[in-house]
Amino acid sequence: MATIARHGILFIVSGPSGAGKTTLSDAVLRIFEDLELSVSYTTRPPRGHEIDTVDYRFVSGESFDAMLAAGDLAEWAVVHDHRYGTPREPIERAVAEGRDILLDIDVQGARQIKKLYPDAVSVFLLPPDRATLAARLRGRGTDDDAVVRRRLDNACREIAAAPDYDFMIVNIDRDAAAAEFEAIVRGQRRAVARLRPQALAAFVRRFEAEP
Ligand code: 5GP
Repeated sequence: MATIARHGILFIVSGPSGAGKTTLSDAVLRIFEDLELSVSYTTRPPRGHEIDTVDYRFVSGESFDAMLAAGDLAEWAVVHDHRYGTPREPIERAVAEGRDILLDIDVQGARQIKKLYPDAVSVFLLPPDRATLAARLRGRGTDDDAVVRRRLDNACREIAAAPDYDFMIVNIDRDAAAAEFEAIVRGQRRAVARLRPQALAAFVRRFEAEP
């Protein structure tokens, strides 16, 4: 099957902060060398370890406004008082060229992407329970108590959107969650509907009886 040309796939991963999205994304990107990460624009300031153009493209509010006006974003949303958006051109080019892209975006963004690109595959990552989520949020140590409380409330609200997704993964164990995501990627890559019709027809013709 790998020899039959196909369209690229947009994989969306959402989940509340503390669900383990970044760890999961990193693990999945390590498994699939040919899966790329969509680097979002954000007006949020960088955290200590973050690198511009690798983790995000950190931009001013004015630059974000300009991109919106130019139609450069496939989706955007306000999350925790900051704006985040997915650049349109890289994801559309990837799909056209048969490359797969991973989008780590919130539930508002996922809704917009699914509307615009119905073939996108959405995965919701859940923490096992509220207590685990609270502990994970506190354990980060990068934000103060009020921020943690707000994130916990936001997280629980976000989880209400889980049933809208194509797949759900409960993140009890890091490796198990990565293996589940891996299975989803491998399964989607085998979907006949994603193959380029002409390439599929040419492949099938190879098996026709000789005259
Ligand atoms: P953080 O600031 O902790 O990196 O991310 C906060 C939230 O914003 C996460 O849930 C993340 O998935 C989401 N996010 C990151 N980039 C985008 C984006 O381009 N669009 C949307 N809608 N959400 C994003």
